[in-house]
Amino acid sequence: MLRLRAPATVVADYFRLFVNRRAYTLQSNRPHAENGRHYYYRPKDKKTGQGLSLTLDTIRRHLEGEITIGLYSINPATQCSKWMAIDADYWDALTDLLKLSFYLRQDGVESALEKSHRGGHLWIFMAEPLPARDCRIYICGLALRLGIPVKGGKRREGIEVFPKHDALKPGRYGNAIRGPLGIHRGAAQRFWFDGADEDLEKQMCYLNSLPKMTGDQLAGLIAGKANPPQFLPPEPKAEPEMRRHTGGSEFRILEHIHTKLRTVGHNNITRCPSCAEEGHDRSADNLSISIEDPRKYICWAGCTRDMIRAAVGCPRPVLPDCDLNEQMATNGIIKWPS
Ligand SMILES: [Zn+2]
Repeated sequence: MLRLRAPATVVADYFRLFVNRRAYTLQSNRPHAENGRHYYYRPKDKKTGQGLSLTLDTIRRHLEGEITIGLYSINPATQCSKWMAIDADYWDALTDLLKLSFYLRQDGVESALEKSHRGGHLWIFMAEPLPARDCRIYICGLALRLGIPVKGGKRREGIEVFPKHDALKPGRYGNAIRGPLGIHRGAAQRFWFDGADEDLEKQMCYLNSLPKMTGDQLAGLIAGKANPPQFLPPEPKAEPEMRRHTGGSEFRILEHIHTKLRTVGHNNITRCPSCAEEGHDRSADNLSISIEDPRKYICWAGCTRDMIRAAVGCPRPVLPDCDLNEQMATNGIIKWPS
């Protein structure tokens, strides 16, 4: 029996411990037709199209097993995170996570292990949100010291460190990680923390009892250190020349896609340029473009058209900050590029 009842205290504690920004992702109930994976996407309000915000009720439904959410680590207003998580999923992953946990404790840092099939997620909680950059300097430095590979760049296997960026660029979300204690849609299984019985209240009690890392502690651990060059995010590419789009020239996505297209049903699928910017979509199948009408395209991970167009260096023109309807009335019909 996977469905459980989540008491209000557990929901509130979970929110306090894990939620650092209100944006979140939702794991699809239905597997992708082509590869059977359950993708995460950003849920939107059906009427307004605005991204939904996490509430206590969302957390309750996640814990009770009705939905499965993904959590973002960095709050863009502060560039800080409430937690660090190390995701390891390869044949020897558990050994590396246990090694990390052991050496974290040598540093006076307690961690909680959430095991999954092959590896798991190792979580560290902070007494207050701390700069993502400092968190990464500490964890990536420790991994380097222990000879544990960190995924990124050309290295396809290794641990993934959340927060995954030193700082978020405006309008970006960074990477989300599956919220613990929910039910993984693909595995149809709940993964528990190692430190307590398989019961929501006992699990939360255990997480609450863990000593939390303080700002002073982290500052001491990274004193004089900088992120090793191989873990620094890639240098931003030179700004592509912004092409002007007025009523006369329509945006054609296919002119801006340089990755391989594959045909699935009525669509061409390929890597989403916006996902790619954040190091996502390694399987290159997030972007679907209608064959019949290539003006119709969608990213299954939830990137908006604005994000996709910005990623290919062809942002939608920004209208002056006034009411669009009013403008349409005064200027006649504006031909709005799709
Ligand atoms: Zn995308």
